[in-house]
Amino acid sequence: MPVSEALERMLAQAVRLTDVEWIATEQALGRVLAETQCSPVAVPPLDNSAMDGYALRWADLDPEQAVRLPISLRVPAGAAPSELQAGSAARIFTGAPIPANADLVVMQEDTRDDPQGVEFPPQSSLKPGQHIRPAGQDIARGQSVLEAGTRLRAQELGILASIGVARVPVIRRLRVAVLSTGDELVEPGQEPAPGQIFNSNRYTLAGLVAQLGMEFVDLGIVEDTAEATEKALLAAAEQADVVISSGGVSVGEEDHVKATVEKLGQLKLWKLAIKPGKPLAFGEVAGVPFIGLPGNPTSVFVTFHIAARAFLLKMQGVSELACRSYRLPAAFARPRPAHRQEYLRVRAEVDAQGGMRLACFDNQSSGVLFSAVWGTGLAVVPSDTVVEEGDLVEYLPFAELAGG
Ligand code: AMP
Ligand code: MG
Repeated sequence: MPVSEALERMLAQAVRLTDVEWIATEQALGRVLAETQCSPVAVPPLDNSAMDGYALRWADLDPEQAVRLPISLRVPAGAAPSELQAGSAARIFTGAPIPANADLVVMQEDTRDDPQGVEFPPQSSLKPGQHIRPAGQDIARGQSVLEAGTRLRAQELGILASIGVARVPVIRRLRVAVLSTGDELVEPGQEPAPGQIFNSNRYTLAGLVAQLGMEFVDLGIVEDTAEATEKALLAAAEQADVVISSGGVSVGEEDHVKATVEKLGQLKLWKLAIKPGKPLAFGEVAGVPFIGLPGNPTSVFVTFHIAARAFLLKMQGVSELACRSYRLPAAFARPRPAHRQEYLRVRAEVDAQGGMRLACFDNQSSGVLFSAVWGTGLAVVPSDTVVEEGDLVEYLPFAELAGG
C-alpha cells in the first residue's frame, strides 16, 4: 500500500483525547492547549515609551528651531503619571506610561540638558507620535491569541503569561506503551552474551515519544514467543492509550507480533510501500490502537516519524498534524528508481553561494542508525522516481518532526 493511503487510513482511526488537566503555565511547555484563549486585557495595557528620554507635546516644539523646556514630571516604568502641563516635558523611561497630553517621545541622545531645562530639536527632525508604543500593539483586548489544539512552545508560554494566564487547560498527556521484541536484545549496562545486541529501539522510541510531549510507558524487552508477546501486548493495552512495538512484524517463524495482534484484536494494515520500514503493521489490541514498527533501528526511526507521529499527535489533540517541509536541491543522485517511497537520511548543507542543498549519507541500509545521527532530516523520494543532482526534493527536518 502506498504511504499516503496508509497514513490516511490510519489517521481516520485516531480518536482525539478530550481529558483536560489544569496546570501552571510554567509547567505547560510541550503540552496541548485544550481551550482557545482570548485575552482579557490589552498588551501593553497603556501607551508607553519605547525609549529612555522625554515625553512632550508636539505643539510645544518649534517647526525650525531648537526649544528649551522645563521638566515638570518624572515617569519611571511602573508609575501612573499625572497629566503633562503645557510648555513642559516629562523625563520618561522605557516601558513607562505616556502622561496624558504628551504625544511624542524624544530619545535622550537627541537632547541636551542644562540647568535651565532640556533642549529639544525642531519639529523638522522629529515625527508626531514617535517612540510611543500604543496600548494593545501586541494583543488587543478580547483577541483570540491561541487556539485549542496548539502545542505550547516557549513563545506561547510567554504570550499566555503576558495576558495574565497563570493556569492553563491542557489535554492530559497521551500514554504510549512501547515494547521491544527480540531474543537477541539486552539492555545497555548488561553484558551481551555471544549473539546478543543492545536494545537501541527502546531508547530511540523513549526519546521520540518524549519529544512529542507524551508519556512513555515502558514494557521492556519481550521474548520471541507467542505467549510472551500476548502477555506483553495485553499489559500494554491495559496501561496505555496506544501501543507501539518494535521488531517481530516480518515473515519469519520468530515474528509473533502480527499473529498475536490478529488473535487479540485486529490487524488493519500490514506492509507499506516505504523504504526503510516495509513490514509496518497497524491495528488494535483489546480495543487500543496498535502500531507495529519494524525492528531495524533506522526503520524504527523513519517509520515512527512518517507513520506514527501524526497518528499520535492527533490522539494527543494537536490540530496541526503535517510536518513543515521544504524543497531543496539534491547534492546527490539516485539513478535507480525504487518501487517504494524512500526516506533518505540527509544533511542540509550551505553551499558556496549561501544556499542550502541536501547531502545524502552513503549507507542508507536500515541497520545503519548512524545515518540519522549524521543527518539533519529526511529527503522524500517518491516511488519509481529518479533523482539527479540539482533536482528539488522534499526535505523534512528532524527539528520540525520533533517540534510536532
Ligand atoms: P525483526 O524485525 O525482529 O526481525 O528485527 C529486524 C532487525 O532489527 C534484526 O537485525 C534485529 O536484531 C534488529 N532489532 C530488532 N529490535 C531491535 C532493538 N530493539 N534494538 C536494536 N536492534 C533491533
Ligand atoms: Mg525480531
